[in-house]
Amino acid sequence: MGDPLRVCLIPGDGVGPEVAAAARQVLDASGVRLAWEVHEIGQTAYQRTGEALPETVLEAIEECGLALKGPVNTSRDAPFRSVNVALRERLDLFLGARPCRPLAGVPTLFPDAGVTVLRMHDGDLYAGLDYAPGDPTAAAIRRTLAEAGAARLGDDTGVSVKPISAVAAERAARAALAWARANGRERVTVVHKANVMRGSDGVFLAAAQSVAPLFPELAVDDCLVDRACADLVRRPGRFEVLFAPMLYGDIVSDLAAALCGGLGIAPGANLGERCAVFEAVHGTAPRHAGRETANPVAMILSGALLLRHAGEEGAAARVEQAVTGAIADRVLTADLASDGVEPRSTGAMADAIVERLR
Ligand code: NAD
Repeated sequence: MGDPLRVCLIPGDGVGPEVAAAARQVLDASGVRLAWEVHEIGQTAYQRTGEALPETVLEAIEECGLALKGPVNTSRDAPFRSVNVALRERLDLFLGARPCRPLAGVPTLFPDAGVTVLRMHDGDLYAGLDYAPGDPTAAAIRRTLAEAGAARLGDDTGVSVKPISAVAAERAARAALAWARANGRERVTVVHKANVMRGSDGVFLAAAQSVAPLFPELAVDDCLVDRACADLVRRPGRFEVLFAPMLYGDIVSDLAAALCGGLGIAPGANLGERCAVFEAVHGTAPRHAGRETANPVAMILSGALLLRHAGEEGAAARVEQAVTGAIADRVLTADLASDGVEPRSTGAMADAIVERLR
């Protein structure tokens, strides 16, 4: 028997510990031997240790190569920068993958709306170049723009900078198209607003177009982000894979998740060359925290993505089938239960999925 697969488990904040425990229980029943290493980041870690993203956790993730992470709080008043953004930057997790597919038994208006959103994590408006009106850097930017004759902005103007590097966009595009090919997809649509933001989205689009000929088996086209949102709602079957810069990808993936039945079932992955971190699309859902009412399926399906990434395709498929089976049998948490179905707790949902793995 070989060594167990080492995985860092990061419960996170809010409903994180509950859905992480559920995912751990299900993955332990998947047939793959797993060695879990539990670490804390986020608000909980900050309150306990004074550090929201301890260096030791980053080192542990790099050493394992794999992590399953619960959501963490990002508050405007927090004394630390977004832990999620910092984690992605420090581990160079440059591509996000959010595959949304409808599950039989989950009420959705759009049964054909399966779509994967791939997003570049480098740069864009999440780069941390964000300055309130009174910040000296905002004043310096306003001055520079005025001196260059570009714009005269008042002292009440805050500034968020949107940098997009051609090298970073090419790397992300190459990985995105490789993901699409490896996962049997045929079409990738590049999402942008290059008609308005030529300086940033123009770079993103050109980079994707320059890489596309390396993948002749894929049809690569593009779409303005506003049009993409409208088409996702009006004719969701139009898209297979959307490749977008960070901000559009964030928004469009929540929309796609909602079309496919809600955040409770939408998994995600953060991919890099050195390691990969898997997590649900949803946040800490404070309303559900500590009540055992959150849906663990998004976190469990993120675990299935982790298994697949680690080469455990059979186990990943079994977990996905067990989830689909439970849902088809009307085993549902409160976010999905309707028509007189008695909602299950987070733990009971996990138990029902484990039963179907036996
Ligand atoms: P959210 O995803 O936590 O909640 C949005 C809505 O979806 C709420 O109505 C919530 O009750 C519901 N929901 C989410 N997950 C659910 C689940 N598993 N089961 C049932 N219902 C669920 O988004 P928010 O309220 O905008 O954010 C709350 C906090 O989470 C914020 O601090 C935000 O920064 C953080 N956040 C973290 C991540 C992450 O760590 N990856 C992602 C998004 C938001």
